[in-house]
Amino acid sequence: ESEFRRLAELYGFREVVTPIIEHTELFVKSTGTSSDIVTKEMYTFQDRSGRSLTLRPEGTPGAVRAVLENRVRVPCRLYYIGPMFRYSRPQKGRYREFYQLGVESLGEARPEVDAEIIALGFEFLAGLGISNCRPEINSIGCRECRPAYHERLKEYLQDRTEQFCADCRIRYQQNPLRVFDCKMAACQELLSSAPRSLDHLCSACAEHFAGVQNGLSRRGVPSTTNDRLVRGLDYYSRTAFEYSLESGRAQDSLGGGGRYDYLVEDVGGPSLPAIGFALGEERILLALGEPGGPEARLCWVVPLGPGEFEAGVKLLTELRSAGIAARMDFDRCKPKQQLHSAASAGAQFALILGPDELAHDTVSVKNLKTGVQQEVPRAALAAFLGEPGAWPRETRNWIRNSGPTGAEPRGPFLKS
Ligand code: AMP
Repeated sequence: ESEFRRLAELYGFREVVTPIIEHTELFVKSTGTSSDIVTKEMYTFQDRSGRSLTLRPEGTPGAVRAVLENRVRVPCRLYYIGPMFRYSRPQKGRYREFYQLGVESLGEARPEVDAEIIALGFEFLAGLGISNCRPEINSIGCRECRPAYHERLKEYLQDRTEQFCADCRIRYQQNPLRVFDCKMAACQELLSSAPRSLDHLCSACAEHFAGVQNGLSRRGVPSTTNDRLVRGLDYYSRTAFEYSLESGRAQDSLGGGGRYDYLVEDVGGPSLPAIGFALGEERILLALGEPGGPEARLCWVVPLGPGEFEAGVKLLTELRSAGIAARMDFDRCKPKQQLHSAASAGAQFALILGPDELAHDTVSVKNLKTGVQQEVPRAALAAFLGEPGAWPRETRNWIRNSGPTGAEPRGPFLKS
């Protein structure tokens, strides 16, 4: 999250924090009545005064609403980080509560903007060390060219309606593009020779798409054109994109987004071009590999006896003011027990203070992962701990309840 913040702010985005609960109508009007999210995945309830409210299933509608209600001057670039809720069958990489990292640009129309935003997501993922992810891109056209394409697609589907699954038959009625979202192998097979939106773009959309491709290659971002990519939300226009791992499985989509030039108007605002994306935090964690344990960027001060207690507390304070996280076990006094506490908290270093260390004005620094111990002068301690390579690249200062393994929670924790 901090890396995402850093990079988004480098690209000129500011954080927007919106409520987790919104009026249901906002999602119906924006995410759209033909999307899976609105038709079957929202947590919707009535409050005490009978209003229909929904736990946000995605971030874009709330961000757009916040801009309109607060009369934020456009063009503006916003990013958000937070939990989203969708009622779907939980499995590895798919949870009912999950976190998204997203950006939205409101008021910028040019293809260079699309390229910059796609590049931002790519740069973020690559910076985390995910090297086998490349953006897939497509264009689904605009209000000028899409109706004719829809007709062509409908004709194609009409001749085969019986062969499609029940969901696809409904999708066909509501929004034929949606059939491309179907995960059923038989439906995908039937779609292999369906007409492609890229062949039906008006000249403005074709020019825009070429501009996006050029913009990406100018930035050295590798991308693949995927003419089946339509994305599950109703509001997209022109550019649609997804960050997929090369394996191509559904849970390997780390995130995606697109242009939504009509959404702001649809929710009651002015006509305003816009584009954004959302990345799934849990999917990113899965791609980074299972966490190896609660490894914290933490030092543990271990006074060997009561004579070193005061020096230990002083060292704690000094470390914290030098920006180094540190703890001490105030409940146990035996050094062995203190080292045990340090290890179970995932600390990297034990900083041992005994009579010798006090006499020499040093600290014995024990790397709890490697077991290597060395004596470091007090004056050089902060520099020693601040050295590049002193800490492993990956430290985890958090524990996540909905683990990226997708394991069912053990329970019951609450006794009735
Ligand atoms: P979407 O908002 O549907 O475009 O999804 C964007 C990204 O959010 C996906 O690529 C996933 O990484 C993540 N995501 C969507 N739904 C879920 C879910 N139920 N559980 C975990 N991650 C999800």
